[in-house]
Amino acid sequence: MNKIDIKCAVCASQTEEAKDLVITSTVQGREIVITGLTGTRCPECGEQYVDAKSSRKALEIANKFRKPAIVFKRKVTVSGGRRVIGIPEEIDRALGKKENVDLWLEGNKIVAEIY
Ligand SMILES: [Zn+2]
Repeated sequence: MNKIDIKCAVCASQTEEAKDLVITSTVQGREIVITGLTGTRCPECGEQYVDAKSSRKALEIANKFRKPAIVFKRKVTVSGGRRVIGIPEEIDRALGKKENVDLWLEGNKIVAEIY
């Protein structure tokens, strides 16, 4: 195992390798917590230093929570006793003839994978 030699920028103590770092980030007003990041932590003051690989990973995850520039707003309606969401024409056109969809929840997002 290679020794990581990073001194704490806050209190100058020797930091220790850690695999359980946590970053809290605000993306478009929503707070997201990213866990299980690697890097080092100061045993004295608790300051954490996320390594480059984990920084990239955290950025990738945060970007997934960003809404794209074009978002179609729809109301959930009721049809035959069920709540339904219409597929916007623009998206439907891009789908072509695909007619299977896997749906799942990610926080308060409904994700639809069409194939
Ligand atoms: Zn420290």
